[in-house]
Amino acid sequence: MINYIEEEHRTIFQTYKRLPLVVDKAEGCRIYDTEGNCYLDFLAGIAVNALGHSHPRIIEAIEKQSKKYMHLSNYFYQPAQIELAKKLTEMTGYGRVFFSNSGTEAMDGAIKLARRWGFDRGKTEITAFSGGFHGRTYGALSVMDKPLYKDKMGPFLPNMKISGYNNPQELEANINQSTCAVILEFIQGEGGVTMAVPDFVNKIFELKEKYEFLVIADEIQAGTGRTGKFFGFEHYNVKPDIVTLAKGIGGGLPLGVILSQEHLADVWAKGSHGTTYGGNAVACATGLVVLEELENGLLDKISETGDYLKSKLNEVMNQFPDKVLEVRGRGLMAGLLLSFDAGLLVEELLNHKVIANACSGKVLRLVPPLLIGKNEVDEFIEALRLSLVQINLN
Ligand code: PLP
Repeated sequence: MINYIEEEHRTIFQTYKRLPLVVDKAEGCRIYDTEGNCYLDFLAGIAVNALGHSHPRIIEAIEKQSKKYMHLSNYFYQPAQIELAKKLTEMTGYGRVFFSNSGTEAMDGAIKLARRWGFDRGKTEITAFSGGFHGRTYGALSVMDKPLYKDKMGPFLPNMKISGYNNPQELEANINQSTCAVILEFIQGEGGVTMAVPDFVNKIFELKEKYEFLVIADEIQAGTGRTGKFFGFEHYNVKPDIVTLAKGIGGGLPLGVILSQEHLADVWAKGSHGTTYGGNAVACATGLVVLEELENGLLDKISETGDYLKSKLNEVMNQFPDKVLEVRGRGLMAGLLLSFDAGLLVEELLNHKVIANACSGKVLRLVPPLLIGKNEVDEFIEALRLSLVQINLN
């Protein structure tokens, strides 16, 4: 019998802080470990399992597509990929789609697309924001500032600036005629479920008018319905030029997307960008199921369940004012700013058979499957209350 934890320590690079459970199976919003414990999943594979685990329609789509073929490469016209692109453009109003395998690959592609657009215009600078998270490849890392992700791994891409999030004055000082693009998460996920304030967003678009740069929205975590609208930026009255998606869009399989407005359709010529696996037929088939479910009522339900979750979290904050300082987020992307290390609460919640996640030190992040209902929220809130009672601040 393999001791999986020991074997993992011996064989895999120790880059992850894993939860102390070996998973046997997962279904809906439940995860079962090999010791027979059942956990309520408020992490959803880090905002990935939009339809929960083992959703029957996702399994059916995988079965159906994999019996036809799994991988062909992008030398072929593949119905699953083209159907997904058609649906995405119809649902979002964006004109063009490029499929990748992951979020960071979508971000690097988006940076390349913007740079190629900027090349003809003498624009080479990109500005992004402190606390942002865009991935682990060099393009994405070059537009991030957290030392943990970057220390001693430079040099990074040149001409990249990091400006204070929600700081319009600092942004203005960082923008000029050479600015090619501004990259942001309208709700920062890893950065602590922090929302852009409307004045800041307005300033970005005001400067865009003046200096003519592209706005790239990183919707990898907040997109695909998580905030109750298809994109997180739809809570503001703006339309970025380029949008990146990943996580939820694949319904559990690796899939990333770059969406662009039609005016960028000809920026890339044949061969300008590519990938072997991106737009894999099976992942596209599951992506289509996610979009269909969102269209068939799920999107409306997310807002309703999200509002309920928020009201319950506010009650918890009122009950524990010394421990819970702020309720953050929109829809089913919620955060609790705590007065102590959120890792302690994650451990305590695990004792109460609930899985959640800490980000940015003192924030408990909640990104459950999008189809949870009020019963699961109530179950989570009960465990949260019991866990908070257990936490001793001294
Ligand atoms: N952008 C955001 C907002 C993310 O939350 C993440 C992952 O957490 C990424 C990009 C990177 O995505 P991936 O891990 O699929 O490369």
